[in-house]
Amino acid sequence: VLASSFRHADIVRAVDDLKDDLFAFASRLVRTPSLPGDEGAAHALVKDKLDALGLDTDVVSSTRADIETHPAFCDDGIPVDRRINVVGRWRGGQQTVAGSREGRSLILNGHVDVVPPGDEALWRDSPWSGRIRDGRLYGRGSCDMKAGLTAAIFAVEALQRLGVRLSGDVLLQSVSGEETGGIGTLSTIVSGYRADAAIILEPTSLRLCIVQAGALTFRLRVPGRAAHACLKKQGVSAIEKAAVLLSALDALERDRHRGFESPYYDDPTSVAPISVGTLRGGDWHSTVPDEAVLEGRYGVLPGESIADARRAIDDALRRAAQADGWLCEHPPILEWFEGQFESGATSPESPIVGVLARAHEDLTGTPAVLQGVTYGSDLRLFTNHAGIPAILYGPGRVEDAHTANESIDLAEVTTAAAVLAWTMCQWGGESPS
Ligand SMILES: [Zn+2]
Repeated sequence: VLASSFRHADIVRAVDDLKDDLFAFASRLVRTPSLPGDEGAAHALVKDKLDALGLDTDVVSSTRADIETHPAFCDDGIPVDRRINVVGRWRGGQQTVAGSREGRSLILNGHVDVVPPGDEALWRDSPWSGRIRDGRLYGRGSCDMKAGLTAAIFAVEALQRLGVRLSGDVLLQSVSGEETGGIGTLSTIVSGYRADAAIILEPTSLRLCIVQAGALTFRLRVPGRAAHACLKKQGVSAIEKAAVLLSALDALERDRHRGFESPYYDDPTSVAPISVGTLRGGDWHSTVPDEAVLEGRYGVLPGESIADARRAIDDALRRAAQADGWLCEHPPILEWFEGQFESGATSPESPIVGVLARAHEDLTGTPAVLQGVTYGSDLRLFTNHAGIPAILYGPGRVEDAHTANESIDLAEVTTAAAVLAWTMCQWGGESPS
């Protein structure tokens, strides 16, 4: 059977025939908790499924010695060596039928790690319920991004049911550690897995995200001088000095966006925010605090290197400190830790962008939307460190990710599966079966 010999309706029907299995699999994945460092059980579920589809399935262990010297390695503090990833290769026939394109290979990548559920009292059901209600699947990881990964797996199954044989290879990748720095995808890259393009199944509401900002986690230590609060003027409040630096960061955020222009962001003034997430200072209400520690996330603009971004914040903090009588003698100390995500981008001219956009339009009847995202993702690892054009494209709204009562519209999941199946046909070429 050749991909060209059936219509989009056949793909939609093939996915529809599988939808009970698809929903059940996504639900089972959600019922299998996979917090960072404990992704193994979820990977086992995926591996069983890929084996059942007859793919060549490898377990790719993450190994500290292999990745710790890589420039994109982010140490998330969780032992690397107990993390695994799964890659299932649906081997293409290599030969192409007359008139068909040379078979190109494609990676479909999804992470199984999920962020913690937060206060469980805010959840209507258990975060691990995997409950399906009114056409939505509920639970931590449903939207980000177990349903997306499931859509990719069942897209392959739908093509198999239709008897399609692609010419190029499809690699289904189930990876660990995306939320905490990307060691899973990095491990697959270091282990040599490559393809002509990659689609990452992040929840993008079926928009094609080809540009991502970066994000650097930072800590700022602000010194003060302790004194009894009744003698406040003999001390220096580290909390008040932190406020000075906070307003410098606020000004820096505005300055950095002033010259930034991109057609891919609705709000180009908030592409790379600087946000302080924690502030600790002092140890007693009636003591002038001698230290304040701020931790936050510093956005990297698309196209900006990490070195340039760090230089900009260093300069801003130095200028703010020099203008302050205390801080110029006792400068704050800036540290970088945990996630250090570069920005990344795929050219809109890259062939995979056109193929996916057309497949989206063919299957949904709506125009493809190209977009940039403000969060970090594994896209940068493919574009910056493997030379692989990559796109984020998947079901679910990012607004539902990481929230209590996280959920996803299952109709969008089956749409995604159909679009991905059609994309594989268009991208991978056809092989005589
Ligand atoms: Zn995600």
